[in-house]
Amino acid sequence: MQPLLEINHIYKSYINDINVLHDVSFTIGAGECFGLVGESGSGKSTLARITLALERPDAGEVTLNGINLHRLKGKALRAARRHIQVVFQDPTASLNPRLPVWKTVIEPLDNYPDAVAAFLTEVRHNRRDLAAALLHQVGLDRELLDRFPHQLSGGQRQRVAIARAISLQPQLLVCDEPTSSLDVSIQAQILNLFKELKESIGLSYLFISHDLAAVRFLCDRVGVLRHGRVVDVFPSRELLSRDRHAYTRAMAKAVQL
Ligand code: ADP
Ligand code: MG
Repeated sequence: MQPLLEINHIYKSYINDINVLHDVSFTIGAGECFGLVGESGSGKSTLARITLALERPDAGEVTLNGINLHRLKGKALRAARRHIQVVFQDPTASLNPRLPVWKTVIEPLDNYPDAVAAFLTEVRHNRRDLAAALLHQVGLDRELLDRFPHQLSGGQRQRVAIARAISLQPQLLVCDEPTSSLDVSIQAQILNLFKELKESIGLSYLFISHDLAAVRFLCDRVGVLRHGRVVDVFPSRELLSRDRHAYTRAMAKAVQL
């Protein structure tokens, strides 16, 4: 079966021809959560931007359902982009401070009117109800509909960012360190939410993190990026297997997994 996402032999450099990404390849199946781990500077966010078609690779391709994203333009690119949404590390930076919650979560739908028809048909004429339904999906009460970002906790803000990201019913959610800015006690709640969404709406993930425990909890498979190269790919239950790359073992040991 064709994978949902294929990352094929991606190369990228910015200056001095030093490869930030060097021959990076992996696939993500439909409904799969793929964890990408690596220390700061290993190239994770660069790969996220390339996957989101926000940046072009120097070589290699990214295909979604067999379609090369970097060959698309205009309407076709817009149509493909709907299927890949993103959750960034810092929800405060990714939410518009001037928009109330309800407008924030349904804003993407204004750009894709067709998507609304396919979504919650019974409430689609009432934008506030649609927003409330999205909040419900991420465990937030409709009481928050008229709040502004500064009136929310960090965890609530990240939930709003997630509600917005799933409003277009994407196939793939790219999460770039989505819990790193949150208190430890809140991180686990957000990880649980990602896990619930995986099961309830069949969402697939490229889940980028430097937190091996989080990746082991959430992900089906894991790739390890080191200096822009994928040095290890394995099912997450085999994280502590003796077959792991020495670098993976050192990472696991460092956090006492
Ligand atoms: P990570 O997300 O794993 O911390 P990044 O992808 O952000 O890694 O960065 C990988 C490397 O690429 C770093 O050395 C960083 O300085 C460099 N880099 C990232 N983006 C740019 C850019 N726009 N211009 C120049 N160098 C960049
Ligand atoms: Mg990063």
